[in-house]
Order: sequence, then C-alpha cells, then structure tokens
Amino acid sequence: MKRNDKTIYLDHASTTSLDPRVKAAMEPFLGLEYGNPSSLHHVGRRARDVVERAREVIADFLSVRPDEVIFTAGGTESINMALFGVVSGNKGAHIITSKIEHSAVLKSCEALEKQGHDISYVPVNEQGLVDIASIDSHIKDTTRLISIMYVNNEIGTIQPISRIAQWLSDVNKMRKDEGLPEILFHTDACQAGNTIDLDISHLGVDLLTLNGSKLYGPKQMGILYVKEGVSLNPHIYGGGQERNIRSGTENVAGIVGLAKAISLAQAQYEEEDRRMKKLWVYATERILREISDVRINGVTDLSTHERLSNNIHVSFKGVNGRSLLLYLDTYGICVSTGSACSAKTQKSSHVLSAIGCSEQYIDGSLRISMGRLTTQKELDFFVDTLVQGVELLRQTTLVSAPLQRITQGKLGSCIEISN
Ligand SMILES: *Cc1c(COP(=O)(O)O)cnc(C)c1O
Repeated sequence: MKRNDKTIYLDHASTTSLDPRVKAAMEPFLGLEYGNPSSLHHVGRRARDVVERAREVIADFLSVRPDEVIFTAGGTESINMALFGVVSGNKGAHIITSKIEHSAVLKSCEALEKQGHDISYVPVNEQGLVDIASIDSHIKDTTRLISIMYVNNEIGTIQPISRIAQWLSDVNKMRKDEGLPEILFHTDACQAGNTIDLDISHLGVDLLTLNGSKLYGPKQMGILYVKEGVSLNPHIYGGGQERNIRSGTENVAGIVGLAKAISLAQAQYEEEDRRMKKLWVYATERILREISDVRINGVTDLSTHERLSNNIHVSFKGVNGRSLLLYLDTYGICVSTGSACSAKTQKSSHVLSAIGCSEQYIDGSLRISMGRLTTQKELDFFVDTLVQGVELLRQTTLVSAPLQRITQGKLGSCIEISN
C-alpha cells in the first residue's frame, strides 16, 4: 500500500484507505461483470453467484450463517435498519442505549422518541464503560431492544458485549416465564474489525452492524447481521432483495470489496493489535513525557482489553483542539478533534462530557487513530510537531482566544498573531 508522501494519516477511525487488494477484487464488477443478480440469464446468474459467495465468506469470518448477513449501504443504514426494524410496528416500545453511542444511534433514537417510543440512555464511567447493573435498572416490561456499541469511535473504549449478552439471555429466560416479550441486543461494531475478533458466536448478540469504510474497504457498504429467527420490519421497500428487508439492486462491486476487506482484516487482527499496542505505548509515553497538562482519555491500561489499541485520545489544557488540528494539518498530519461528526457541528463532544472530562480539557482534545501503514517514524514526526503546536498555541491563547471565537477557530488567526 502506498499513500501521498507528504501525508501522515492518523485518522483511521474516520475512514481508511481502500486496500489495493480490495480494489483489485472489485475491479471486474466495475467493468465487464455488470450483471444484475436478480436477472435469470447467465450474466445475472454470474453476479448472483458472486454475491452469494461473498456472503458466505463474510459469514465464515463472523461464524454465522450466510442468510443471517444482510448487505446495506454502510454503518448508518445498518443501525437505522436495526433500531427502526425492531421497534416500528410496536406501540410505545422501550429501547436502552448508552450516552456515548455514534450519532447514527442517538439520532435514530431521537426520531423514534418523536414517534412515541421510549428511550433510556445509560451513563458510562470515567473510562467510558457501561455497567450491566445500570442497564438492568432501566429494564421495563415494554423493553424490546438494547443497543450498545462494541467500540466507541471517539475514545476507543471496548464494551463488555459478550458479558451483556450472557446476562441478557438470563433476563430473557425470566421474561419468557412471565410472558413478556424478548429483548433483542444490537451492537455497533464499526470500529472493531481491525484489531478485535468479530466472531459473533462468541459475542452472543442478535444484531450487529459493520461497515467497509473503517476496514480498508469500500465506503457506503456495510452489513447488518440478523440472527436467525429475529424478524425485522423492512427498511427499504421494493424488489424484495436482501430477504425483503433492504430492497434495491445489489452493489456487486461493493459486496465483493467488503468481503475481501473483512477477510483481510480478520485474518490479521491479532498481529495488527500487537503492532498497534507497541505504537500506542510508544506515542503516549512520549506525549506524557514531553507535554505538560495533558490527559489520556478513556481506558489507559491496554492489558484489560477495554481499549482499542489504535486509538489515542488526548486532551491538552488551555489549547483549542481545532487550532491544534489545523496546525498539524499544515505539516501534513491528519488527526481529528473528538470525532469527525462533532468537529462539523462544533458542539463539544457528548462522549467527553459523559466521561466527565473537565471543561478546561474538553476544548483541547485530539483523536489520533493509527492504521496499517502507521510507523514509529511517522509517530515521531507527529509528536515532535504536536509538542511545538501545543507550546505555540498555549503562548498565543491569551491573545488569540477572542479572535478564534470570531473566526470560529480558523488557524489563520492564531498563526498571524504569534508572528
Ligand atoms: C463510522 C461509524 C458509523 C457510521 O458508519 P457509516 O458507514 O459512515 O455510515 C457508525 N458507528 C460507528 C461507531 C462508526 O465509527
């Protein structure tokens, strides 16, 4: 894999590059192999075979059955499909989720609330972990769904999904005796596939969301795993593709690319995790040693398997995160403030608020997410530049703060003043 020489890309939690092997696998289906899998002739039948083969490959890696894999147009769509698919049609259904979910979950929940459903948001501790007792305390007779993300996209906290599933299976046994409806469990696993085992038979969930754009695969491609026996209301009506849940002519190239991407990621996740852990320790030790008034957000002990090893989330006191991001960008370094979504709306991160990050620090937060091509040398250049940037911005904060507010934190204002 190659990339633009001048770029140091440390934003893999936003998206990853397309692996050349994935691209190569997709290419025939952007050219001569253009068939519609629903057509009865040989061109269509060939496309159908390819789609079903890809479904089998993915099912194999996830240890599920091929007909439990539904192709979608990405993580957001899978999440919408799971949440709306479970509760629409029920009146006043209750959903339990966490305060630190991706906006695809939180905004879906807001919309469901407007439709008369009832949502509980469980808190997390200062490391970003949910507590099963807290989920338990929110259960009602009307609860139909629990949606807890596998890995948080901002601070990289890994939730105890299989433990929640085990506990829920006991809860469901008791509910069955009481004649209450089963509670289904969905997890958003979009951030998990590069360094964590995605074996669903170990996880024990009923629904799982995964996307291609975080796995060196195609964007706008994802799956929703739907466990056998779970019935979902259709998400898109039409020709009845994807078990009638998600109609529309299949994205054959995207499906092939996704299968390749999942295969590659899951074949090397352990090795990638080991490599990332070393880089994580190296970079955070340098940051903590060379910069004062800094905190690492989320879980700080990698040995507990509660933190994604490619995610470093740091906050600097008295620094504007956006200015720091743009400073690094002038050196070709790509990072993110909090998350890409909150960067756009410029609202302070709901995740950092939920873990109780203090105001002094929240503003100066950066998410550094490493990837397959990240090297120690790149991290050295990044930390060198970061040290300079933090120092420069701390010197100029007093003068530039009012200006920053006016220009909404554009870099120009702080650089000009410092010169
Ligand atoms: C990226 C992401 C999504 C959204 O996926 P898209 O493929 O961009 O629609 C949802 N949840 C998490 C945790 C993500 O990181």
